Amino acid sequence: MTDRRSAELFARAKEVIPGGVNSPVRAFNSVGGTPRFIASAEGAYLTDVDGNELVDLICSWGPMLLGHAHPEVLAAVTEAARHGTSFGAPTLAEVELAAAIVDRTPVSQVRLVNSGTEATMSVLRLARGITGRDMLIKFAGCYHGHVDALLASAGSGVATLAIPGTPGVTVATTHDTIVLPYNDREAVTAAFETYGPQIAAVITEAAPGNMGVITPGVVDGVGFNAFLAETAHRHGALFISDEVMTGFRVSRSGQFGLDGVVPDLMTFGKVMGGGFPAAAFGGPAELMAHLAPVGGVYQAGTLSGNPVATSAGLATLRLATDEVYDQIDQTSAALQAEVSAALGSVGVPHVIQAAGNLFSVFFVGEGVETVPDFAAAQTTSTTQYAAFFHSMLDQGVYLPPSAFEAWFLSSAHDSRALDRIVTALPAAAQAASDSRRNG
Ligand SMILES: *Cc1c(COP(=O)(O)O)cnc(C)c1O
Repeated sequence: MTDRRSAELFARAKEVIPGGVNSPVRAFNSVGGTPRFIASAEGAYLTDVDGNELVDLICSWGPMLLGHAHPEVLAAVTEAARHGTSFGAPTLAEVELAAAIVDRTPVSQVRLVNSGTEATMSVLRLARGITGRDMLIKFAGCYHGHVDALLASAGSGVATLAIPGTPGVTVATTHDTIVLPYNDREAVTAAFETYGPQIAAVITEAAPGNMGVITPGVVDGVGFNAFLAETAHRHGALFISDEVMTGFRVSRSGQFGLDGVVPDLMTFGKVMGGGFPAAAFGGPAELMAHLAPVGGVYQAGTLSGNPVATSAGLATLRLATDEVYDQIDQTSAALQAEVSAALGSVGVPHVIQAAGNLFSVFFVGEGVETVPDFAAAQTTSTTQYAAFFHSMLDQGVYLPPSAFEAWFLSSAHDSRALDRIVTALPAAAQAASDSRRNG
């Protein structure tokens, strides 16, 4: 399989775009090699600029729930574009998309925005505006977009203030952010004991998928999200569930559909944009009434509720029936079993963790059975993942180019696509095994 054209384009891209990419993970830095430049996509397959057909297990990092270039989504987008692409004025389509989101989730109102980052940024402002408090709790390894206050790393010790996670984020910005280990209830309790009256909100991925998939733990029948909601409420703080990745993907109603925990505020993105820039944040009408123009918390957007993006999202949600979720769940379960069998047969220790149909494969040490948080995820082998990844890519299967990402399927992943993945697994498992032996 040649990647000559991709390599040429990557060199040219690096001259005019920092690192050659518009989002860092695309650069393949953590697995090495040349990122594939994509020419087109249809159903479960990508075609790169060298003409290679790849089974896509990224699905644009989540949005393409129905596969690429779905004819009915394309028809909706084409029809919308024919009527004009942006008005900066209200439209029917955005009302229908908002209603479709409200119909599937516990929120009663949403504000539409253009990216998941914008949704989390705005929801934090809203939470602070509602409570009149400044501080936030987030969890290490949860990604909420590149919002300054959330690009923070844990300071040393439990319940200490965060430090900037990247140059360009000021100490003042992260001073109001507390970063805790995911699934660590004692740390949450301790943080509220120390800072309770100052904490506006706890924000978490509904089921983390951005450090690999981490399962919200259940203790005495109480799930981690339920624990967070209850603890936040006891201290007058809000519980914010970030469903940008899980929303409309892990079930018809996202992670809410799986655990039933009603957050105060929620964020959505990815699937609801149907492959276009659209995202949202929402909650009960009483809380959303704090937002301008009704209330005092300012939030706006020139392209928010864009008619083309909303038509893609609406078409996607209308087509995302229970049968679609059942089918993706089944494909996911089958693939997880095949991956585990292939790795098991060559003796590579691994853990597969899932949130609904989202899952990821961790290359763990001998005897490790679970990866509960970011610290544990970071001890897994990126070398073995890279070997596995490149073997799969050479055989025409496009996995996430990082050990700490979820694998995404779509309803277009049929038995032919699954067969192609399964056929590639033994050699990839062997490559992971070889890289393990070589240290
Ligand atoms: C992708 C993601 C975001 C950011 O969304 P963008 O559209 O990339 O800005 C926020 N939160 C979660 C959980 C995500 O997975």
